[in-house]
Amino acid sequence: MQALAIIVAAGRGERMGTERPKAFLELAGEPLLLRAASAFDAAPSVTGIVAVVPRSELGPARALLAPLGKLRAVVAGGERRQDSVREGLTQVPHGFAGVVLVHDAARPLVDVSLIESVVAAAAEAGAALPVVPLVDTVKRVRAGRVVETLDRGELAAAQTPQGFRLDVLAAAYEQAYRDQLTVTDEAMAVERLGHVVAAVAGSPDNRKLTTPEDLAWAEGHLKGILRA
Ligand code: C5P
Repeated sequence: MQALAIIVAAGRGERMGTERPKAFLELAGEPLLLRAASAFDAAPSVTGIVAVVPRSELGPARALLAPLGKLRAVVAGGERRQDSVREGLTQVPHGFAGVVLVHDAARPLVDVSLIESVVAAAAEAGAALPVVPLVDTVKRVRAGRVVETLDRGELAAAQTPQGFRLDVLAAAYEQAYRDQLTVTDEAMAVERLGHVVAAVAGSPDNRKLTTPEDLAWAEGHLKGILRA
């Protein structure tokens, strides 16, 4: 099944502590946005890419992504992540019958096999996302006190790309906006409608780069891959 990828890169990335928005920082000489988008450009099932960037970066982003053969549009994002995703959705053709993928530009180490496994699972179940098991024991903490310990065996960290049939994602977003709800990922909007969301094996490499330490980790990791 064919897929259209929306890559959200419109966050300010304040925890990085840099002037330039995070998606434009370089990892081994290549901006995070270009790295992430290139993986989708190389994925056989992906037929189109929409990038969502800060309004001030529209020009530079268009120039940066121009070499990608599957680039369809570069649009300005919104206040919250979900607002940026909604801007991206305006570029999906009406009646598109494939899978819509939503991916964080802040996860530049995504690879083609993960993209394809999400597309396959989303085509079958209507919605799918990659997860990785948690290594730490997780506590619920309120006002500096532990309230409870959660069962780690049932917990997982959600990654992107998250994949959906267009009708499923559009309905979920419509309802979330009607209910004035802020969601931290697309699957959350879909889950609350009672729709099944399939979980596929994510990858520890597909980490969201949030702090300068994460960026340093990714540089080291890439060097390790090149040396191997
Ligand atoms: O802020 P957070 O780490 O959740 O951001 C995840 C992804 O969503 C990043 O790639 C960021 O650029 C994007 N984002 C966006 N528009 C926003 C906020 C975040 O496109 N308003």
